[in-house]
Amino acid sequence: MRIVLLGAPGSGKGTQAQLLVKAYGVPQISTGDLLREAVSRGTPLGLRAKSAMDSGKLVDDATVLGMIRERLAQADAAKGFILDGFPRNIAQAEALETLLAGLGKPLEAVVLLNLDLGILFKRLTGRRICQTCGQVFNIFTSPPDTAAHRQKCGHEPVLIQRPDDKEEVIGKRLEVYDAQTKPLIKYYTAAKLLRVVDADAEMGVVFKSIQDAVRAAPVNAA
Ligand code: AMP
Repeated sequence: MRIVLLGAPGSGKGTQAQLLVKAYGVPQISTGDLLREAVSRGTPLGLRAKSAMDSGKLVDDATVLGMIRERLAQADAAKGFILDGFPRNIAQAEALETLLAGLGKPLEAVVLLNLDLGILFKRLTGRRICQTCGQVFNIFTSPPDTAAHRQKCGHEPVLIQRPDDKEEVIGKRLEVYDAQTKPLIKYYTAAKLLRVVDADAEMGVVFKSIQDAVRAAPVNAA
């Protein structure tokens, strides 16, 4: 399986990527996660990326492409991958195409998680992450059950908000998605790789749609 999960921030790419990892045994490659890790380790790359991330802008292509090149060269990516949050613009998509053509492993599908803007906003402003175990909650739609969490993870949920999930940054992230990432819908439609999935449903239902979409023939999106 060599796929891209495409969608606005808050469309559920990370959650669905984790389900795909479990089902297909291929790694999730999330540029957002890789960048956040570099920021928290204080590496030169992380220091370079931090201000763009905190303000909801894209990190420069050279940095992100270097990171992706390195990650795709690791042994576990030889059997396939789920790209989550990459590519984010046409230049990155073109670079990815060249990179994968060089490896003789082209993309098999690009799955668009389609969601209304109002729902995206609510998902992002409500998103909270348990600082201890990384589990993702939403204070509006899936708040933590303290007792259940303690039983499952052995600790109380300690909820934090990603700095870029703050309301003032979310607007910028959605604007960046519209201007830079949305054109990929046309790009991958033309490449006959795009499949569109309705992401406004329960997690398991969306997952089933993704599985069906990956098997089905490509369709065009508006
Ligand atoms: P995400 O977790 O995918 O929403 O990414 C969080 C932030 O990391 C984004 O708002 C960007 O600042 C940065 N980022 C993640 N992926 C990319 C990418 N492919 N290109 C540029 N910046 C990225």
